[in-house]
Amino acid sequence: MINVTIDGVSGSGKTSIAKGIAKVLKYHYLDTGAIYRGIACYYNFLKFPEPDKKVVDKFVKNLQIDIKFIKNTQHVIINGIDFSESLRLEENSMLAAILSPFHKIRTKVLLIQKAFSLKYNCVIEGRNIGTEVLPEAQVKFFIVADEKVRAKRRLKQLKHKNDNIDFLDVLEDIKSRDYMDENRNEAALKPANDSIIIDTTALTTKKAVKLCVDIIKKKLQINDL
Ligand code: C5P
Repeated sequence: MINVTIDGVSGSGKTSIAKGIAKVLKYHYLDTGAIYRGIACYYNFLKFPEPDKKVVDKFVKNLQIDIKFIKNTQHVIINGIDFSESLRLEENSMLAAILSPFHKIRTKVLLIQKAFSLKYNCVIEGRNIGTEVLPEAQVKFFIVADEKVRAKRRLKQLKHKNDNIDFLDVLEDIKSRDYMDENRNEAALKPANDSIIIDTTALTTKKAVKLCVDIIKKKLQINDL
């Protein structure tokens, strides 16, 4: 199977780029951040206490994660509950970043990612896909962008749902999630040695997708699509 990995910082445009590439190449697409977000939603739903190793080990024991694609949209179902509607709430973003370093959680998610990569030609998006989940992937991208530009993009997305959101709060949230993702002991966010860095600060999604598709075609020697 052909695997393309897209890692990068929060709000850099990873999701739009990964979806765009998958559409052009007619590959499957997996958003792994959504899985961590779904786990966070379930954690909130169960009203589990402040996470520490002991609490998280207990939480993970009966954790059943299912990914379904309904009308081309990825749904994250945890222990039978479809959390797709609440994945993007800011409280779940932060809790996903807090829970994602726990080893037992990562091990569960790893199995899903590996199974997907073996079954489909796919574009998989996340934080450590090129470095740890699929180090053997044929093409790897690492997406970056200026943090103020990322905060502006995120603010635009969030304003659709909530008008009271402030730019500085969004910027702070992006900075602290990057800090947590980059400095954790396990699966820290960093480019793989063979990642191609794409800076989207001054790029539209369309241009970024074209740039990536051209690179993939060249690397895989695909002439016609
Ligand atoms: O990409 P997204 O913002 O949806 O990811 C939410 C959080 O899930 C990230 O901040 C990160 O902590 C975690 N994550 C991860 N590994 C991945 C994807 C996401 O640790 N492969």
